[in-house]
Amino acid sequence: MAAGFRSFAAGMSQPVVALSQRLAGVLRFAQGVAGLTRNGDRWRIAITGGSAHEADGIVLALPAYAAGRLLESVGVTHARVLAEVVYVPSITVSLAYRAEQIGGALNGAGFVIDPDVVGARHVVPPQIRACTYASQKFPGRAPDGHVLLRAYLASGDGDPAKVAHAQLAAILTIRGEPLWSRVFYWTRGLPRYPAQHRERVAEVRHRLSRLPPIAIAGAGYDGAGVSACVESGRAAGRLIAQRTPR
Ligand SMILES: Cc1cc2nc3c(=O)[nH]c(=O)nc-3n(C[C@H](O)[C@H](O)[C@H](O)COP(=O)(O)OP(=O)(O)OC[C@H]3O[C@@H](n4cnc5c(N)ncnc54)[C@H](O)[C@@H]3O)c2cc1C
Repeated sequence: MAAGFRSFAAGMSQPVVALSQRLAGVLRFAQGVAGLTRNGDRWRIAITGGSAHEADGIVLALPAYAAGRLLESVGVTHARVLAEVVYVPSITVSLAYRAEQIGGALNGAGFVIDPDVVGARHVVPPQIRACTYASQKFPGRAPDGHVLLRAYLASGDGDPAKVAHAQLAAILTIRGEPLWSRVFYWTRGLPRYPAQHRERVAEVRHRLSRLPPIAIAGAGYDGAGVSACVESGRAAGRLIAQRTPR
């Protein structure tokens, strides 16, 4: 199972860092888009803080709710449906252990808990929803003789690091305390699409085709996995390149 997974040696920041180095001087960072306006066949992008950019074409690689607001402001009223894509909050906890602390076998790349199945047998369903055996799934994630786990928790009471350790200890027969743990809060995590999402996005795109070159891309529209996001971004880039005069 683990053989099927691929990532970057230094983690998911690696391609972002590489791209930002390759495009240094062209790329501008930390530019919050406050507004869009049409300027003939071009666009004017207002940046938080007062500056602005002119553009021949735009890819809005933003969460659906943010893109929807900007598109409504340029007259694409239909884009308000994008606000119905709900981003579900979640918490991830990374925990490090010495290998000998883990009593149970770590088979595969991790596990997922079905809360309906577990809830039927437990008075209080566990807060943990899934766990990735990070050091087993990808090479180089922990020194020899150590294990790195990443737990996914639903929102709930208590210190997430303590909850994750206690529930993993019960499931994987872990002895003692973690060497360290770190909590990450995803207040707007994975998108959950409403009914007819695909048709709605297609309709928004159809309406965008009547404007100067502009496209939407990312997890809010075409699938939340990284590979789907990359494909969505490529398609948007191709569209803008086709429509932008050279
Ligand atoms: C906890 C968690 C674990 C995951 N694990 C996996 C996994 O193992 N494998 C996998 O394939 N996928 C995974 N995913 C899903 C995947 O990581 C995301 O769906 C994907 O990274 C989303 O990419 P994106 O570019 O569409 O959106 P984002 O990465 O959210 O980028 C949108 C950007 O738009 C910016 N923005 C918003 N508003 C504005 C504005 N007005 N002006 C300028 N910028 C703005 C934001 O700051 C943000 O940087 C996981 C997601 C979560 C939350």
